[in-house]
Amino acid sequence: MLTAVDGQSHSALGNAPRRRFLGRAFCAALLGSPHLAPAQQLRVPLADMHSHFGLITRRLADSGLAEDMREQGVALLAWTLVSDARWIRGTPFGIEQFREPQPGELGRYFHARLDLMRNYLATHKLKTVLTVADVDACLAGEAGVVLAAEGADFLEGHIGNLEAAFDKGLRHLQLVHYIRTPVGDFQTVAPVHNGLSETGRRLVEACNARGVLVDLAHCTGPAVDHALEVAKRPTVWSHGWVDGEGGDWRDPYGFLRRRLSIAHARKIAARGGVVGLWALGLSRPGRLWPVGPADTRAYAREIVKLVGMIGAEHVAFGTDIEGVGPNWAVNHYGHLRNVIDHLQEFKVAASVIEHVAWRNYARVLKAALPG
Ligand SMILES: [Zn+2]
Repeated sequence: MLTAVDGQSHSALGNAPRRRFLGRAFCAALLGSPHLAPAQQLRVPLADMHSHFGLITRRLADSGLAEDMREQGVALLAWTLVSDARWIRGTPFGIEQFREPQPGELGRYFHARLDLMRNYLATHKLKTVLTVADVDACLAGEAGVVLAAEGADFLEGHIGNLEAAFDKGLRHLQLVHYIRTPVGDFQTVAPVHNGLSETGRRLVEACNARGVLVDLAHCTGPAVDHALEVAKRPTVWSHGWVDGEGGDWRDPYGFLRRRLSIAHARKIAARGGVVGLWALGLSRPGRLWPVGPADTRAYAREIVKLVGMIGAEHVAFGTDIEGVGPNWAVNHYGHLRNVIDHLQEFKVAASVIEHVAWRNYARVLKAALPG
């Protein structure tokens, strides 16, 4: 999550043009055309390592998430609960913590939200990805949701609290977000732990032992280093962007602070991990981040750039749908299909597109999840 929860509804789902895959399949079946059927078969499954679809700007019940996933062939979606949402607010420059949680509040908030999400999945018969076999089932054609949390704040510093979240299906955990945490330092404020705390290191170990994918997004560089020192399985940086030396908490805007250094991106990759590129669409795109609102083509170009930096086996989509508020380049999965189309127009090799679209997230999930 990047920008303010501003209360505006930016559902482009109802009015944006959508590709008519179902229509094409129907026509192919009707005509028995040998020319159209393979195109349908070639549709690449999609995976998204970071999505708040239906959780921030849309109303969950009528968000259309399940329909969109099925229509667009989303196989794996990290559906991300913002653990500290009630304690943060948007500013003209980014996001900041504005009050302290009371004891027990973070845990109660998390479980209430998680229960809502689980209800939605049950109502819409979306598969919850819990095991390696579930990943395979989703790659075979089922729409799958990986329950994810942005921030381990709900643990309230107690690793033992991970168990209850795991039992409810949590399988992807981002260690830090925007509020002060005993876990470690995050990119947008002055560091206080010099990286990950002892609790943070033990949390990485606990996730590895239990079967929860560790997500390092928002961590400071030293916190990434500490996590990689103890991690026994590949990690992800689910969303953000990669640039030079990385961001600094004193940078003027949140999106600048959220840069991951090229060196850290390569270090995550060298250990088998994956970096997700966010679909931020700046109203005034610049030299550093040249992606404007709804500009799926520019986002596709940034994907190609990141592949050039760290290799096709280490790049994935991490759209941050709804997390970027009105500043989106991708706001539903029809848009992500457009990104695939652009990559094909750019003559990106099919194997590279496959890795970015789904293979990489599937690989790290299978390395992390229980068998
Ligand atoms: Zn975020």
